Amino acid sequence: MIAPWALPSLPVVGDRRRFPVRRIFCVGRNYAAHTREMGGDPTREPPFFFMKPGEAIVADGGEVPFPLATKDLHHEVELVVALRTGGSNIPPAAAESHIFGYAVGIDLTRRDIQAIAKQRAWPWDAAKGFDHSAPCGAVQPVAEIGHPKRGTITLDVDGARRQEGDLAQMIWSVPEIIGHLSRLFTLQPGDLVFTGTPAGVGPVVAGNRLTAEAAGLPPLTVTVSATA
Ligand code: MN
Repeated sequence: MIAPWALPSLPVVGDRRRFPVRRIFCVGRNYAAHTREMGGDPTREPPFFFMKPGEAIVADGGEVPFPLATKDLHHEVELVVALRTGGSNIPPAAAESHIFGYAVGIDLTRRDIQAIAKQRAWPWDAAKGFDHSAPCGAVQPVAEIGHPKRGTITLDVDGARRQEGDLAQMIWSVPEIIGHLSRLFTLQPGDLVFTGTPAGVGPVVAGNRLTAEAAGLPPLTVTVSATA
């Protein structure tokens, strides 16, 4: 028999216990300016989802080995929702009661593999769900900050601003996202939802230091190292 592995988890602000991570759901194209930079039409597209393994989490201060099989690794800074309870067919009006807290994350993307997948109508798993593809900061419990609906969301590479938006620019709100998602999946405690990125996505290379911030949540810094 093989040995069991550690449950992926994130630190929680003000608590010595960690938040156990189950699945990672991600929303595509949830800011109009980013939808346009990717060649989409922000006015007519319903939300769509893809997933990353829970084990793709990299905590604050961690290292992201430059992934295999890409020459175009992109950063996407996103607000992350951490679920306390789950369910299916959750009405948006009830969605916030299922949220444990919020964090800031980076949806790392192998953009070259994604471009091929789009061209050939292939799935996005290899573009999105690879090892170390989900850096995520500490979880800030709702009890401390409430539900952030506006506020700056930014990503810096080596101290230079690359992405800047506002949470108020999200096309689908967090309650609407949970509503849609829970009609496709029975959501579970420990699930994370990455809620889409503002404009300004771009490439990162080995040696880069990425810093993500959103609405006063604990900042996230990770360093990209040489391919493992
Ligand atoms: Mn994304």
